[in-house]
Amino acid sequence: MSRPERDSAAVVWDRAHCWHPFTPMEEWTDPGHPPLVIVSGRGAILRGEDGREYLDGNSSIWTNLHGHAHPKINAAIVEQLERVAHVSYLGTAHEPAAKLARRLVELLAPGPLERVFFSDNGSTAIEVAVKMCAQYWQLVGQPERTWFVAFDQAYHGDTTGAASLGGVPLFHHRFAQWQFPILRVKTLEELGGLEEWRGGKVAGVVIEPLVQGVNRVHLWPKGMLGELRRLCDEREVCLILDEVMTGFGRTGTMFACEQEGVVPDFLCLAKGLTGGYLPLAATLTTRRIYEAFLGPVEAMRTFFYGHSYTANPLGCAAALASLEIFQEEKVLGRIGELSGHLRVELARVLRGRAGVGDIRQIGLIAGIDLVRADGSPWPARERVGFWTCQRAREFGLLTRNIGDTVLLMPPYCSTPEQVTRMVEAVGWALRS
Ligand SMILES: *Cc1c(COP(=O)(O)O)cnc(C)c1O
Repeated sequence: MSRPERDSAAVVWDRAHCWHPFTPMEEWTDPGHPPLVIVSGRGAILRGEDGREYLDGNSSIWTNLHGHAHPKINAAIVEQLERVAHVSYLGTAHEPAAKLARRLVELLAPGPLERVFFSDNGSTAIEVAVKMCAQYWQLVGQPERTWFVAFDQAYHGDTTGAASLGGVPLFHHRFAQWQFPILRVKTLEELGGLEEWRGGKVAGVVIEPLVQGVNRVHLWPKGMLGELRRLCDEREVCLILDEVMTGFGRTGTMFACEQEGVVPDFLCLAKGLTGGYLPLAATLTTRRIYEAFLGPVEAMRTFFYGHSYTANPLGCAAALASLEIFQEEKVLGRIGELSGHLRVELARVLRGRAGVGDIRQIGLIAGIDLVRADGSPWPARERVGFWTCQRAREFGLLTRNIGDTVLLMPPYCSTPEQVTRMVEAVGWALRS
């Protein structure tokens, strides 16, 4: 990539003071590889300080829905900004949050998910669900239900509680001794065989419905979610769905759980909630759970949990605008067409090519496995996935790998031509 004469102020100060997530910082600060500095975005395109344009191939780590600088979302944020940017949600209410809660409940209607608890990000949405679930069982006189079940290779966030549920050893093993103990299973058969499950000791099961994103786009078998709901009902165990990634159209329906007609006891939403503009999350739950927390103040049934920026009005305004865009621009229909196009292009450009292994797709989520010419996996130290994504930047594509899987998750506003260019950029990066 062409190098400017001198590093920009952003690069110099970044190297001197910033610490990036999931990033080996010695490599990051290597003077030979200045970081890409993004200065602006429009639709599916991000512009670098280097003057070059990049397709946002992973929707800015799975958050962006309708593109960058969408006029409607920008206007909604500015309008709210003129009123008030933030007020505490502890002790006061405001219309953007009230309206958003109603809209979310309407989206899931008819159904028992009636209450919305706001927080800041995917990890906190999960923490809220876990704490609510644990307290619920205490309040209804079953304090022996203390165990949570989570799935192998799951990802539910990085705060210590959410990480306890996570099953990716690379991210979490160092902190294992500070995490709460959980029951981890690979399959529903394993779940049914657990002693704690049969003995009524389980409070809740947490799962990413239909697809585990961080587990390199691992697709669950069809019918699995419905069967899990049935098993939970049988044992009266709460089902917590982590739709932080799958929510808001990613898998083709507004929520992934719709595809198997499943209603959870807790639904966790974040990433796409604000269209990818601001950090905001929501944990939805049922009237049955909510009512267990009611009672006179002295009964101490209150849910003692909250953050300073809970239900931030700017975030709520962005989320409301994003939901309006779904209707006005008939976005779900467009997702259907675009994911069909993505499927065709993945098959045309990449499937069956030397160096490409399995390709998995659901809606506008695709995982492309990179393998050696003989189909065997690359040694991890070669970092083939990482270098392929680095190389793809030269062909105008910005995305990230997970191990040797390259992820594509286009914003919903992408044109078919832009989706084609994303897939071709992966092909070109592989070839070079
Ligand atoms: C990203 C993600 C999280 C964590 O969300 P943050 O906002 O990064 O804390 C949790 N669960 C899933 C499925 C995710 O993809």
